[in-house]
Amino acid sequence: MYEALCDYVKEKKPSWVIGSPPCTAFSRLQGLNFPKMDPAKVARMIKEAKMHLHFVTSLYQRQLSQNRHFLHEHPAGARSWHHPSILAIRQMEGVGVVRGDQCMFGLTTKGASADEKRLAKKPTKFMSSSPHMLKQLEKKCDRSHSHQILEGARCADAAFYPLQLVRTLLRGIRDTKAAESKKIQLMKSLIPDGEVDESEDRVLAVADTTGAARVHVTKVGGGHIQLDWDERNFKELYRDEYTGEILPRHLIQEAIKEELSYSNAHVWEVMDKEGLKKFKDAKLVRCRWVLCNKGDAQNPDVGARLVACEVNHDGSKEES
Ligand SMILES: [Zn+2]
Repeated sequence: MYEALCDYVKEKKPSWVIGSPPCTAFSRLQGLNFPKMDPAKVARMIKEAKMHLHFVTSLYQRQLSQNRHFLHEHPAGARSWHHPSILAIRQMEGVGVVRGDQCMFGLTTKGASADEKRLAKKPTKFMSSSPHMLKQLEKKCDRSHSHQILEGARCADAAFYPLQLVRTLLRGIRDTKAAESKKIQLMKSLIPDGEVDESEDRVLAVADTTGAARVHVTKVGGGHIQLDWDERNFKELYRDEYTGEILPRHLIQEAIKEELSYSNAHVWEVMDKEGLKKFKDAKLVRCRWVLCNKGDAQNPDVGARLVACEVNHDGSKEES
């Protein structure tokens, strides 16, 4: 089974691998039972569980090395979180862990009677390469309800994901995709036409022409590049997008710097063109400045907004 799955991942290159290994051998409750069990059976269970953990973590590693994503889910108290193969993934750049209580995703198990369903807390930890996924899953119990204690047959019930958790995972996947395509488009829009064939150093040089202060821009996958802003590449003349009036150059420079500083810190990360090839549906978009004076000639209040220009499938143009 492992080999078939491995081949599948190699061939299909899924955007996400979601791992939820069986937790019996790593569960603390189960650990209490081990002394009462057949030692050979215990040894086999532990061996199988470790093999499974090695297997899923090797898939995660593959996903990370190819700029794709994984999500790993296991009970918060499970000893597997301290296993070396999990710790190795956890230490990798861009990987985070959050806790979510499954009562917040509507996990129920049978109550005293067969018809009665009660919420079960099942504290769970999620590890993922995507902060957008983790943001969705980080939900601690709000204490607005009582909990069913998970034991015996109820544990088996709790092994199924409640529908709300499935929806949350889908939202995490959606948010990750949206953030990444936005990042790629903005990144590409920063590289002027005809200069997209240059290396990462060239990107640095291109971005190196926009201001008058030292800034750091985060690189995709970690690290950052340093930019010393310089005013050489500001234009001589700037006009209002709507009225055509000539705008005060120093004020426009400030507005452009302000917009770029914000984007450098909060909107995008940079990567070289080779890296962009890894994103199959990456699209190159142009961008341009929309400048205007919201005040008047005596009391100018100029604004600069960087917009990405995209041509839709129907040929119409859209800016955002
Ligand atoms: Zn709760």
